[in-house]
Amino acid sequence: MAAEETPIPFRDLSRQHAPIADELMAAVAAVVDAQAFILGATVAEFEAAMAKYLGARHVFGVANGTDALDLSLRLLDLKPGDEVITSPFTFFATAGAIHNAGGRPVFVDIDPRTFNVDPHAIADAITERTRAIVAVHLFGQMAAMGPILELATGRGITLIEDAAQAIGARTSIDGQWRSAGTIGTLGCFSFYPTKNLGAWGDGGLVVTDDDALAERLSSLRVHGHGRGALSYQHDEVGINSRLDAVQAAVLTVKLRHLDGWIESRRAKAAFYDRRLAGIAGGGVATPPAEADRFHVYHLYTIRAARRDELKAHLAERGIGAGVYYPVCLHQQPCFSHLEYREGEFPGAERAAREVLSLPLFAELTTAELERVVAALEEFHTG
Ligand SMILES: *Cc1c(COP(=O)(O)O)cnc(C)c1O
Repeated sequence: MAAEETPIPFRDLSRQHAPIADELMAAVAAVVDAQAFILGATVAEFEAAMAKYLGARHVFGVANGTDALDLSLRLLDLKPGDEVITSPFTFFATAGAIHNAGGRPVFVDIDPRTFNVDPHAIADAITERTRAIVAVHLFGQMAAMGPILELATGRGITLIEDAAQAIGARTSIDGQWRSAGTIGTLGCFSFYPTKNLGAWGDGGLVVTDDDALAERLSSLRVHGHGRGALSYQHDEVGINSRLDAVQAAVLTVKLRHLDGWIESRRAKAAFYDRRLAGIAGGGVATPPAEADRFHVYHLYTIRAARRDELKAHLAERGIGAGVYYPVCLHQQPCFSHLEYREGEFPGAERAAREVLSLPLFAELTTAELERVVAALEEFHTG
C-alpha cells in the first residue's frame, strides 16, 4: 500500500454536500429572506413531506432525536418503578430518555446476528410494571417488529420505535412492507448531521397515527401550551423542543435525495458482503440482512475477534473505522443502581468487544472500497 495514497475517511459529509450545495443554499436563503426561524411554514412543509415519505398520519419536527424519545415517553406519564424494556446495545440516548422520563430501563439481550433486541428476551422480561418497549433499529436494520408488536399488543404496553438510525428502512409484516417508525404507537427519528438524513445541526421527529397522542405532542413540544384562545393556558408542563426552519429547509432538500443515497449505501454494503465473505481464516463476520427487512446501512458493522488490532491496522493504512458501541448500557456507571452484572447479557457484551464499523457512505468510490477490502485481507493473511 503506497504511503502517498490519500486517507479513506470513515464518513465524509462534504462529498454529500458538494453536488447539492446550490440547492441547499437557495433553500436556506429563502428562510433568511423570510426571517421566520422557528416552526412555521418551512417546518410544516418538511413535516408534510416526511408524513408522505413514511406513510405516517401525524409528524412533529422537534429539536433532536433524544427529545423525540423524551416526548414519546412523557406521553406515558410514567410513575416511579414503571419499567421500559430496551436494548443494552444502543446509543446512550435510548436509555437516557427512559430514565429522564421517570422510567426504569429494563435491558434485555440482543440477537447476536443482527445486533437488535431479541424478542424472546423481551417476552421473558415483561412484568406487571412494564409500560413500554423501546425497539431500536440499530445500524439501519429494523428489529424483529412482528413478534415485538405481538408482545406489546393487548397487554397495555406501548411500543416506541427508536428509528434514529433507520430512516427509510422497512420490514415485511404479514406480507406488508412497512416503514421504520410507523409500526409502533410512536416512532422517533434523529437528523443529527451524520445520520442517513442529516441536518446542519440538531433535529428530530416524532410520528404517530394516534390522534389523541398527536394532540398532546403538538402541545408538549411547546411547553404544553393550549391552542387558539387558550394559547397561554398550560394543562400540563411540556418542554421547548422545536425544529427550526433552517434545519427543515436543509432536510426538505436532502429528503429528495435520500432514496438514492440509500440505494448507493446498499450497493456498497453488498460489495463488502461479497468481498469479505471469504476472508482467509474467517476472522470477519459480515452483518446479515434478514430476508424480511430492507436494510439502509446507517453503519456497515462487522465482527472481528481481534477488533482493536484490526482497527489499528486500518488506521495505519489511513482507513477510518468506528466502534459503535464499546460499552453496553447496563455497564454504564450512571445505571449502576439498576444492579446489572457483567456477563448478564452475553450477546451484547460480546458485540461491544467485537464490532467494527467500516467506511460506508453513498459517495465512497469503488477504488476506496477495494482498498478497505485489501487492508482487511492483508490483516487476516498476515
Ligand atoms: C442518534 C441517536 C439518538 C439520538 O439522536 P440525537 O438527535 O443525537 O439526539 C437516539 N438513538 C439512537 C439509536 C441514535 O443513533
